[in-house]
Amino acid sequence: MTSVLSSEHLHDEAAAYAWVEARVWPDGPICPHCGGIERISKMGGKSTRIGTYKCYGCRKPFTVKVGTVFESSHVAMHLWLQAMLLMCSSKKGVSSNQLHRTLGVTLKTAWFMSHRIREAMKTVGIVPLGGAGKTIEVDETYHGDKEIVIKRTRRGKAAHSSKCAVIALVERGGDARTFYVEKADKATITAIMRNNIARETAVCTDESRLYGSVSGEFAEHHTVMHSAKEYVRYEESRTVHTNTVEGYFSVFKRGMKGTYQHCAEKHLHRYLAEFDFRYNNRASLGVGDAARADRIVKGIVGKRLTYRTPH
Ligand SMILES: [Zn+2]
Repeated sequence: MTSVLSSEHLHDEAAAYAWVEARVWPDGPICPHCGGIERISKMGGKSTRIGTYKCYGCRKPFTVKVGTVFESSHVAMHLWLQAMLLMCSSKKGVSSNQLHRTLGVTLKTAWFMSHRIREAMKTVGIVPLGGAGKTIEVDETYHGDKEIVIKRTRRGKAAHSSKCAVIALVERGGDARTFYVEKADKATITAIMRNNIARETAVCTDESRLYGSVSGEFAEHHTVMHSAKEYVRYEESRTVHTNTVEGYFSVFKRGMKGTYQHCAEKHLHRYLAEFDFRYNNRASLGVGDAARADRIVKGIVGKRLTYRTPH
């Protein structure tokens, strides 16, 4: 077995472009200006930038970067691919500082790169999770002053309901989908569950009142009584617990504490997208580090970022 790190596209700029092009344009180059596919030639010559094509339909040049998260960046493509691989293969994520040191780019560049890669990791086109025979666990955690505090909302613990919260839906043996909300109240949680969980699903939550009103809308709703120190309940055809979603939160919490200590609240949804991506493309589902980087590239199209300033 050869090292993933020795792949040519991580070191050679022409190979890096070819690698990205093969994924963004599986059927050949497409002009991002006019949509043309027929009268396109690759530009050669010493003074031409690597990866430049010319469309003879509209007479404009372009590269595979146009219209993607790489657009208007002067960072070499092979460094982008190195950054993607690093972010994909580390369970808790990679800080901008670490990228800066490993790739030899400035801290500011590292910060932009990591946010753009997170953008590429974001799931688009929402299909409901779950379905007949599937179980989804739902839980919430709270985001305090620059720290994620895992606190369960029990009856009488209304003090936490005013903080920003992360709601997570995790399908057992399947995907996770998280939401950063200003207020974890019944109405918000109900809307999230209605829009993201198929009706035929069995839902597991704790006994919080937050989940009471959607109870009848799904095939089954089981609650585990955490306040009574009940964590798992074995029933005839099922096991009632929320350990899967709690496992998700614990990885997220450790990552945010260890790697992303200075995450501004307004960017939290981007970090959540990153944790969801890694969870949904995890090794136990048969997705390796290289395949994970491969999947990110499919998310780079049509996601240009416009913000300019770090923090
Ligand atoms: Zn064109």
